[in-house]
Amino acid sequence: MVKGNKLIWLLFVSLNIQSVSAQQKLTANAGHSHNDYKQQIPLLEAYSAGMGSIEADVFYRNGELYVAHESSEIKSRKTLKKLYIEPLIAFYNENGNQAYADSTQRLQLVIDIKENYQQVLSKLMEDLKGNESVFDQQKNPRAIKIVISGNIPPAEKFNEYPHFIYFDGRPEKDYTAEQLKHIGMISQNIAHYSDWNGKGTPTPPDLQKMKSVINKAHKLGKPFRFWATKDSPNSWKELGHMGVDWINTDHPTALKNYYLNNAKVEYTNPQAYSPYTPTYKNDGAKTKVKNVILLIGDGMGLAQIQAGLSANFGQSNIVNMRHIGFSRTEASNSDFTDSAAGGTALATGHKTNNRYIGVDANGATVASIPDTLAQYGIKSAIISAGDITDATPAAFYAHQIDRTMSHAIAADFKKSNVDILVGSRRESFLGNKDGKLMQQLYEKGYQLQQTLRDFEKANTGKQLVLLPDSGTQKMLDGRGDMLKTSLLKSIQLLAKNKNGFFIMAEGAQIDYGGHANDLSYVVTEQHDFDRLVGQALKFADQDGETLVIVTADHETGGLSLLDANYKKGEVRGNFSSDDHTNIMVPVFAYGPGAQNFIGVYNNTEIFKKILMAYKLN
Ligand code: MG
Ligand code: ZN
Repeated sequence: MVKGNKLIWLLFVSLNIQSVSAQQKLTANAGHSHNDYKQQIPLLEAYSAGMGSIEADVFYRNGELYVAHESSEIKSRKTLKKLYIEPLIAFYNENGNQAYADSTQRLQLVIDIKENYQQVLSKLMEDLKGNESVFDQQKNPRAIKIVISGNIPPAEKFNEYPHFIYFDGRPEKDYTAEQLKHIGMISQNIAHYSDWNGKGTPTPPDLQKMKSVINKAHKLGKPFRFWATKDSPNSWKELGHMGVDWINTDHPTALKNYYLNNAKVEYTNPQAYSPYTPTYKNDGAKTKVKNVILLIGDGMGLAQIQAGLSANFGQSNIVNMRHIGFSRTEASNSDFTDSAAGGTALATGHKTNNRYIGVDANGATVASIPDTLAQYGIKSAIISAGDITDATPAAFYAHQIDRTMSHAIAADFKKSNVDILVGSRRESFLGNKDGKLMQQLYEKGYQLQQTLRDFEKANTGKQLVLLPDSGTQKMLDGRGDMLKTSLLKSIQLLAKNKNGFFIMAEGAQIDYGGHANDLSYVVTEQHDFDRLVGQALKFADQDGETLVIVTADHETGGLSLLDANYKKGEVRGNFSSDDHTNIMVPVFAYGPGAQNFIGVYNNTEIFKKILMAYKLN
């Protein structure tokens, strides 16, 4: 390797390329770096982004091949040899005779001839001399392919060039079998088929034209590329749907990031679940309610609900609920709430500061729904598919000025009127700094259950269900029916109470998926939560005196949805944040009193509407 190449190599290493593994769908390796020499760092930006095709426009002048788009742009140092051929040979050698360190990645150098092909090609042969094997895919399938484009020789002359020199074909041309051997890909300007601007989808007739030209190339066994396409994520996505093999781009790094994020922003549901079909018999009745089930999807905004709906093939329980409102989620000290202030608003009817649990903005203890209802003989259960001392469930039984005070939060439980508590992080209770906590809870009549199975066996009494952390693992890791089992068992135990019950159950991890910017995580958690909604609606129908409310404390991740296919259970999104947003969250209600949840109101109103529904003297 000559000295200059060593420098380029070091630069390449310092760019720290991320390998892109081969997938069925397109990857960054399907990227074609158009006008590559115009990049800030020619070749290296596209190479470090893992582009599979890199294009240089070439002029022949004074016995050299120069890279430039116009002849006026020719600069003495910018030769094809220096900028492309020598570094590519160095990479190939460095990688043990392959284009990329990752053997699944391919690479082609597209040389776009601007003027006289005879002069360019004969000089190219000279530049390649001695290194032909680097570019010979017949000898080594992992070699770098050379495809000549632009002002190429007529097809009749293809055979005058070595077998490793390929040409860029046109779909409207007919080639002989012999000529086809020299065709490395087939390309055409997308404007020949459509006026599509890259936004949304092309019209069906245009789409048909484009698909048929792609299919024609594929029938000849050739990869296909459109040029002059719009260079945007939506355009890349639609081109992928059409079946193109190369995505033309002037932004290799953006294209790489687009494909790298695919796994986390796309979800395909392997299997649909069937929603429950409500009877609507008592929906919106003016009668008083005996029971309220409040289901909180932590971090579940409209986009999360829509993502779940699309991925469940267009069906969900939530969308069957007919009384709908919107809740404003602002905290006292910020327009953006966390789950502590959001949970406190729902649980106590008081706006408070972020991080505050069950206290108002001055830090004063305020009564929660379970404590208020207990005065009327109404029993309560608090269930979370996560840490039971985390902010959302904690707001229903604890009073602390920082959500992280998990021991103090757990210790507050002894002053609470909650009858059933279900969730994980049991160390906060079992290993509490207050060594007497568990003894005091036993004295208050709580039975400790450490597995869901033991909880299911319980017949009576107050239940403290403290699961191991594995009990609230992700749905993707196999949490199973933890929420459903907990809800049904709590209903069974509390329905015996003649004065009725209040149950809050939380889909805690929709929020975690949003913070992680992981759409699969969000959707699988949302589906679990939506199935819980179905269980609640079913009970409400059987019971006739139960009000079901479904809402969120806030939205998480600034999720927007970019693509979906109801027929395939597919959804694709984009997160604009790794934190909460302050967009209003929907409130869905079902059963007697559901009509009172229509409108736009503060989250604190939900607390008031719940108490009103019981019509407590
Ligand atoms: Mg939560
Ligand atoms: Zn959160």
